[in-house]
Amino acid sequence: MTGERLRLMAVHAHPDDESSKGAASMARYAAEGVDVLVATCTGGERGDVLNPHYPPVTGGPAEMNAIRRAEMAAAAQALGVRHQWLGFVDSGLPEGDPLPPLPEGCFALVPLEEAAEPLVRLVREFRPHVITTYDPTGGYPHPDHIMTHRVSAEAFAAAGDPERYRDSGEPWTPLKLYYNHGFSMARIRGAHEALLARGLESPFGEWVESRAAREIPEREVTTRVVCADWFDARDAALRAHATQIDPTGFFFAIPRDVEREDWPFEEFELAESRVPTSVPEDDLFAGVREVVA
Ligand SMILES: [Zn+2]
Repeated sequence: MTGERLRLMAVHAHPDDESSKGAASMARYAAEGVDVLVATCTGGERGDVLNPHYPPVTGGPAEMNAIRRAEMAAAAQALGVRHQWLGFVDSGLPEGDPLPPLPEGCFALVPLEEAAEPLVRLVREFRPHVITTYDPTGGYPHPDHIMTHRVSAEAFAAAGDPERYRDSGEPWTPLKLYYNHGFSMARIRGAHEALLARGLESPFGEWVESRAAREIPEREVTTRVVCADWFDARDAALRAHATQIDPTGFFFAIPRDVEREDWPFEEFELAESRVPTSVPEDDLFAGVREVVA
């Protein structure tokens, strides 16, 4: 290919989200020569230590922030991608009934134009052809995930418009916007059935039943990227987030040989395209390669 180098930007809420959603696809594209940049909206300061095998962090948010920065750098290295912080403060996951108010100054409370500005600026600098983010529900209802969707949609809409964000760099129009589909019901059910079919124990039985009972409508999967050869890189990136990811826990519950055989891809939903393409697709750059080359 003699054309311009392809560029992919993945927008995430917290350090570790990039390693659990679309990570193997990013590693594959990076290995194939695509310039891949992860943009993380918040520092994950309000995250708890979620890995029971990790020693307690006693230094409060400042220490947590420092640890998570180091973890994020190691994860980016494992995936072979570049990384940029957008500089907002973690909103935390509110719990209780009624839910407590969000903490002052957190990402989810920042007005949209102000919250989207650093991302618009980064889009204009990095000039991605494709952007990935979360669906409008956030994928799960963490306020930072919903806000990440909102700033990504805003940047996709506005970055190419010279009348918008006038002081935030030269306009650049990204060509496609995708939503990650890390944990579709089809994937969990497929893993559940594959484990049972092999006579193995499945940790997903309860999930499959509760999801079926609640009848949550499934979002559309338009695009499956085959990336099994990069599952090892994804797993190394997950393990790099040692405060968050239990190496014996949920993310490692599917035996890797079963996963490779039954589910060798990651799934995405094409949200918007400014180039002609037809679904289903097997490449985030379908329709883009032709335009760029
Ligand atoms: Zn998150």
